[in-house]
Amino acid sequence: MRQESIPFVNLGIQFERFQNEIIEKFKQISSAGHYILGAEVEAFEHEFAEYCQAKFALGVANGADALFLVMKALGVGAGDEVITAPNSFLASAGAIVATGARATFCDVAEDYNLDPEKLAAAITPKTKGVMPVHLTGLPADMGPILEVANKHGLFVLEDCAQAVGARYKGKRIGAIGTAGAFSLHPLKNLHVHGDGGAITTNDEKLYQKLKLLRNHGLKNRDECEIWGYNSRLDAIQAAIARIKLRHLDEMTTRYQTIADNYWRGLKGVVRVPDRPDFAEGVYHNFVIQVERRPQLQEYLSSKGIETKIHYPIPIHLQQPARKWGHQEGDFPVAERQVTKILSLPIYPELTDEQVSRVISEIRFFYEAT
Ligand SMILES: *Cc1c(COP(=O)(O)O)cnc(C)c1O
Repeated sequence: MRQESIPFVNLGIQFERFQNEIIEKFKQISSAGHYILGAEVEAFEHEFAEYCQAKFALGVANGADALFLVMKALGVGAGDEVITAPNSFLASAGAIVATGARATFCDVAEDYNLDPEKLAAAITPKTKGVMPVHLTGLPADMGPILEVANKHGLFVLEDCAQAVGARYKGKRIGAIGTAGAFSLHPLKNLHVHGDGGAITTNDEKLYQKLKLLRNHGLKNRDECEIWGYNSRLDAIQAAIARIKLRHLDEMTTRYQTIADNYWRGLKGVVRVPDRPDFAEGVYHNFVIQVERRPQLQEYLSSKGIETKIHYPIPIHLQQPARKWGHQEGDFPVAERQVTKILSLPIYPELTDEQVSRVISEIRFFYEAT
């Protein structure tokens, strides 16, 4: 019997669902001739701010820029340090380095997020802020992180790229700290057809400065107030984000249902994700920890099931970070997890039948071999 393959991502089927609305918007925006920023982006910003329970939102070119611009607006630069998680996607640390500052790290806990108990020890006189990453779609434990940060006068920039819609103690992530940075990249839960990003904050002064920074420092068509950058969001991408934002809660529920099925089906067979009671995750990734990972991955692949590792090399052990003197053993929890983690396919369009098949193949692998 030939079995249908289960790819790790399948963006085409989400497009099919929304194509009528997207094509209509594409025609409308193309005829009107306003392609960058403008009314469509402003409408997205209002709706996104409301969604994230933040006072302000700003559309930018991508998630890395969202992080970078917030730090620039907060005055981060050469000689400064910002603490982040060593197990994140490279862009978290990369955005810090882009400001001229140095990325420093704090080990993570079993939930893959910054371990608040280790945070104080990572602070030096040069530390200006902390960038917790809500990795895998699960909010970091913001309460104790904010407590340590406030005590030391540090900003807290939430890397929300993987966690749009997630809640920490009932409140949406993004404006719990000083600001939040989101990515609208095609692989994120809320995505557009290219690059895109957004910033959320409750701080009006910060918002006004970010608005200048993302568009060459221009306060109107002709007058520049500060030196800035080009990090604008396109109208068509904002329109696509608006269409999908209206369905995001329903898609999130589907992510959570799939996660729940994986969780119950695989508990006791492999290590399933922590579900701390302070957080409601949106399962950007469903990460298990397994023994004999290469063999399992190969077995699943032979059955047409695609899996990935997020991420196979911790940031502090990447070549450019080694120059800062990092070595194996610096962040033992992250380094232990990296040898065992495996991400399973998870997206709203995945069927119950496909999820069951992934579960039964993993169970079969450990029971039969
Ligand atoms: C995707 C991602 C980013 C960067 O977003 P881009 O839109 O690709 O620039 C930053 N941090 C994390 C944790 C991410 O997953």
